[in-house]
Amino acid sequence: RVKEQGKNNFQFFTPAMNEEYSRRSKIAIGLRKGLERDEFTVHYQPQIDIPSGAIIGAEALVRWTHPPMGPISPAEFIPVAEETGAIIALGEFVLREACHQNKAWQDAGMPPLRMAINISARQFAQTDICGSVRSALADSGLDAKYLELELTESIIQGTSDAVATMQELKDMGLHLSIDDFGTGYSSLSYLKLFPIDTLKIDQYFTRNLLVDTKDAALVDTIIRLAHNLELKVIAEGVETAEQLEFLKARRCDYAQGYLFNRPLSPEEFGRIYCPLQVGDVVY
Ligand code: C2E
Ligand code: MG
Ligand code: MG
Ligand code: MG
Repeated sequence: RVKEQGKNNFQFFTPAMNEEYSRRSKIAIGLRKGLERDEFTVHYQPQIDIPSGAIIGAEALVRWTHPPMGPISPAEFIPVAEETGAIIALGEFVLREACHQNKAWQDAGMPPLRMAINISARQFAQTDICGSVRSALADSGLDAKYLELELTESIIQGTSDAVATMQELKDMGLHLSIDDFGTGYSSLSYLKLFPIDTLKIDQYFTRNLLVDTKDAALVDTIIRLAHNLELKVIAEGVETAEQLEFLKARRCDYAQGYLFNRPLSPEEFGRIYCPLQVGDVVY
């Protein structure tokens, strides 16, 4: 098929393709400028311990309002940032910001949380991630045990390097999780090789839990798989009490989703969770 697209094969852009292309290039340029102009912020979404109902962590999620274009979803701009390499500076910003915020909350008396940060495959493979983490921890004063990196199955390309890097991060005292578990195309054998702590069930599986028996079976199986491997398991995208009941009955460890809260600005998050004492039930 590739061969058929020879030298004389003209490719025409339709108006829709043109529009998409120009939006993409505006985002690519905007990312670079936005980093210089401090346009990015980080929001935080609570993670709940299912048996106790206490808050145990938060996921850091980057937010961006492009001046003329308005708010843009990370689902749209992260892939562009991956392509252009802007993800490296952006990822560094989120890491440092989230470590400082977590330490500030601890200092303000919030029950200590584990802060989960998304690390893109390119950031993991092409930067000195261990060095970045070490310096973010040192500069913020955050203890490594309060930091978790969310990795995706796509980091598996280049396995032996990836495992060595993960081991170094584990030795520093970090937690590691696999995000969007089950949505990639990788084999399960990496679970044996990777020194990880937690599997994160993608919201795609959680969403239809109660209406699709196959999704229910998959979620049930991922929970058992995690526990059989002595890993913890967290479900993301939990929106209803019924979904939470299902997860609780199957001994899923943690949950995250709109049922508890949306990703919140640091001010909103602090207002809600800062007055808490260790062990307070939030749900
Ligand atoms: P993710 O890491 O799987 O993050 C979970 C996404 O689900 C977030 O979307 C969150 O807002 C959303 N979500 C949480 N609870 C619910 C719920 O109950 N229902 C629904 N429908 N959605 C829920 P968001 O913030 O738009 O981020 C999208 C993706 O962008 C993330 O997916 C992650 O892959 C990427 N991303 C976000 N921030 C960063 C970052 O700082 N670095 C990197 N590398 N990727 C990031
Ligand atoms: Mg994530
Ligand atoms: Mg996820
Ligand atoms: Mg996801």
